[in-house]
Amino acid sequence: MRPFGYERAATADEALALHEDGAVYLGGGTNLVDLMRLGVATPSRLVDVARLPHDRVELEVDGGLVIGAAVTNSDLAADRSVREGHPVLAEAVLAGASGQIRNLATVGGNLLQRTRCSYFQDAAKPCNKRDPGSGCPAREGEHHNLAILGQSEACVATHPSDMAVALAALDASVRVRGRSGERVVPLEDFYRLPDGAPDRDTTLEPGELVTAVEVPPLGMPSRYRKVRERASFAFALVSVAAALEVGNGVVTGVRLALGGVAHRPWRARRAEDALRGAAATEESFLRAAEAELEAAEPLRDNAYKVPLARNLIVRTLMELGEGT
Ligand SMILES: Cc1cc2nc3c(=O)[nH]c(=O)nc-3n(C[C@H](O)[C@H](O)[C@H](O)COP(=O)(O)OP(=O)(O)OC[C@H]3O[C@@H](n4cnc5c(N)ncnc54)[C@H](O)[C@@H]3O)c2cc1C
Ligand code: SF4
Repeated sequence: MRPFGYERAATADEALALHEDGAVYLGGGTNLVDLMRLGVATPSRLVDVARLPHDRVELEVDGGLVIGAAVTNSDLAADRSVREGHPVLAEAVLAGASGQIRNLATVGGNLLQRTRCSYFQDAAKPCNKRDPGSGCPAREGEHHNLAILGQSEACVATHPSDMAVALAALDASVRVRGRSGERVVPLEDFYRLPDGAPDRDTTLEPGELVTAVEVPPLGMPSRYRKVRERASFAFALVSVAAALEVGNGVVTGVRLALGGVAHRPWRARRAEDALRGAAATEESFLRAAEAELEAAEPLRDNAYKVPLARNLIVRTLMELGEGT
């Protein structure tokens, strides 16, 4: 048994004040409490932020969204403005976990959930992410579901969130409060590649609180597709969040992000560049997917993710193209 304190914050200011050294914020607890049971997370104090008044999805006049960090995953997926204006986000959330977990899990906690790498979750094993400098046994060991893009010698883990992949495609930003004020961080700058410091998943500073996610209007059809080992309760082997706009047979707008392939949601900029202005055909979609995946550096047992990602990108874009 490891003793720890528990405090429930009523406001963001109170949460910041309660966050002492060794404390962590508690959302729905569906990831953090598991990690505490495993001895991977050992906080001195939990600061419960699940009941802060950041519990609404607000629709802006331009069609953008401001999603409070305490909104549950279930409420987010059920929200009418999300389903109508940003269906890729609702689909991504519904592709994750189970109904019971989504009822508890919050937006802030979903963004900040930790990797499912089995060595990270086993406190008896070395792992650079959990214990910097101890090594990365996954590189030579069990890595069939780990990264093919952007990994480093120090870490080959993937980010597990489906929601974050959709938010990456949507050009979302994260609203963050710290003791020195508020800042808004584009999602691409919020998550990190592992480089030499895989213990840091994000660019959050110690004690900073996520209060909301800002999502600009989308205005084109969108879709989330996920391949996993079981039909539910399974993290992505590969997933694709895509939005596509076609005019006169030519791609006029496109957003593409991949999940299950990297330490952070992977915005597929090379594929997007290859697609803009190209004919909306299977051949163009395939060329774009190949342009993105040229940078892949698969490990011994996860090379299957390269053709899987290629085929999923092409299929998702074909489905979107057929609908326009
Ligand atoms: C069996 C199972 C299957 C799952 N399958 C999937 C899946 O397929 N796809 C998927 O995406 N997810 C999946 N999940 C993960 C699930 O989505 C996450 O556990 C959940 O979203 C975490 O949200 P939470 O509010 O419970 O976070 P918590 O567990 O409370 O917290 C997670 C982390 O976020 C931090 N945190 C929480 N709120 C804030 C805040 N406002 N500001 C700063 N830090 C904060 C905490 O300190 C902690 O580090 C699964 C989980 C389980 C148990
Ligand atoms: S891949 Fe990352 S999380 Fe997994 S063992 Fe290596 S350092 Fe740890």
